[in-house]
Amino acid sequence: MDRFRKATPKRRKIIASVAKYNDHRNDLIIDFDNRCGYCNDIDVWRTVWFELDHFVPKKYLKTIKDTDYSNLVYACRSCNNSKRAHWPTGNEFIHNQNNEGFIDPCEDNYDDQFYRCPDGKIMYHTELGKWMYYKLKFHKPQHEIIYRIEQLDSLIEDCENLLSVIDSQILKDRMLILYREYRNYTKQLSSI
Ligand SMILES: [Zn+2]
Repeated sequence: MDRFRKATPKRRKIIASVAKYNDHRNDLIIDFDNRCGYCNDIDVWRTVWFELDHFVPKKYLKTIKDTDYSNLVYACRSCNNSKRAHWPTGNEFIHNQNNEGFIDPCEDNYDDQFYRCPDGKIMYHTELGKWMYYKLKFHKPQHEIIYRIEQLDSLIEDCENLLSVIDSQILKDRMLILYREYRNYTKQLSSI
């Protein structure tokens, strides 16, 4: 099994006040490295699917403002819609309690809750991870498909680089197989 993420995203200390929380979108895309903070899906194949989530839902904000950068997460629509206003502690400063609730994806221990199976599926390590897994619907198929597409894309790029220096039929045959797999996954993604 693989680590869930290669690196923990970190928000810069952006304190400039903005009129609408969406004004932070471009900065969040940079800080989250074009990935959903929760499921780690990359946005390349689904740009319009990515939104801004309030980590502590708006409903529970008392002192934190809805435009505060420190409370925003770049998130795919699936995670954002699944998370909704779920916040079991009801307190803006207590993120989780008794294995229920959330961990800010910018915390290093977020990665300890999950791992990645060789086939691309997300799984949980801990009870709190299990709670988040079901609340965020990490079992949905696109997480596995996007992970596989990203891996194939990187393999295809490696083959293309090699082919620019070595003319090899074995490599060309291998690339054809990779392209077919890639096409198969992108088709699956467009149908869900
Ligand atoms: Zn997501």
